[in-house]
Amino acid sequence: MLCSKCKEKAVFLSPKLCKNHFVDYFEKKVFDTIKKFNLLKKNDKVVVACSGGKDSTTVLYLLKKFHGNVVALAIDEGIRGYRDKTLLDLERFCKKHDIELRVHSFKDEVGKTLDRMLKQKNHPCSICGTFRRYLLNKHAKGFDKIATGHNMDDEAQAVLMNLLKGNTGLLWNSNPITRKVKGFVQKIKPLYFCSEKEVAAYVLLKSFEVGFIECPYMEESFRNKVRDVLNDDELKHKCSKLNILNKNLELLKKLDLKRKDFRYCSDCREPSQSRVCKTCQLIKSFK
Ligand code: SF4
Repeated sequence: MLCSKCKEKAVFLSPKLCKNHFVDYFEKKVFDTIKKFNLLKKNDKVVVACSGGKDSTTVLYLLKKFHGNVVALAIDEGIRGYRDKTLLDLERFCKKHDIELRVHSFKDEVGKTLDRMLKQKNHPCSICGTFRRYLLNKHAKGFDKIATGHNMDDEAQAVLMNLLKGNTGLLWNSNPITRKVKGFVQKIKPLYFCSEKEVAAYVLLKSFEVGFIECPYMEESFRNKVRDVLNDDELKHKCSKLNILNKNLELLKKLDLKRKDFRYCSDCREPSQSRVCKTCQLIKSFK
C-alpha cells in the first residue's frame, strides 16, 4: 500500500501515510491543537508530567521542539517491576535531549510506596490517582502550565467514566486546557486529538526508547473496562472516540458547569473541597 501523498510505502493505514508524511501529520495535529486552544503563551514556564511511557515522552519531546525550555516532573509511586523501569527510560531520554528531570516519590512524600499501601487497602488506582494528582500539582507550583500525556483514548474514557459515575462536574477536566482555579496549576493536553495508535506509531517511527509495558494494577481498574467497551465500539463505528470528545466540548460551552469552590486544607494548606483534603485523610488512614 502506498502513501496517499507520495509514492513511498505507507506505514500507517488511516490515514495512509509513509514515515515522513505520518511524522509531519502527527506533529502538525499536536501543534494545531496547541494553537487552536491557546494552550501556551510565549513566555509560559512549562513542566511536563512524565511517566517514562509513550504519551508523556512524546509531549515532552514535542513541547521542547515547539516551545523551547521545558522541565520533566515524574512521580515514583513505588510500583515494583513497572515504575522503576519506566523511570530509567525517562532518565535516559532526558539526558539525551538535555531536559531537566525532577522526581518525587510516594515513599518520601506520603510515607509508603503504593505496593506497600496495597497490603493495607485495595483500590490501587483511586489511591494512586489521589496522591499522584496532589504531588504533581504541589511540585508544579511556580510553573504556568503543567502538560500531560492524555491522548484521545484517555480523554474519551474519562468522559464516559464521569458520565457513568454521575460526576458531571468533572467533565470540565476533559478539555485540552483546564480552567484557571486558584491553587491549581493549569493543565494542558497537547495530545487531546491524537489516538493511542497514532502516538504509538509516532514513538516507534521516532525510535524513542520507551517500553510499552502496562501497570500491573491496570487490569483491576474501572478505566480498563471502559477502555474495552470504547475500543469495541470504535471497531464497529469509526470515530466514536473523537465524537465523544467533540460532543463533550460542545456541551461544556452550552452548560457552563460550575466548578465547586475550593478552600484550603487545614493540614497541608493545599486546595481542598473539605476542611481536611482527601490526600491528608488518606495519609492518616494508612498510619
Ligand atoms: Fe496508578 Fe492505576 Fe495508573 Fe497503575 S493503572 S499507575 S495504579 S492509576
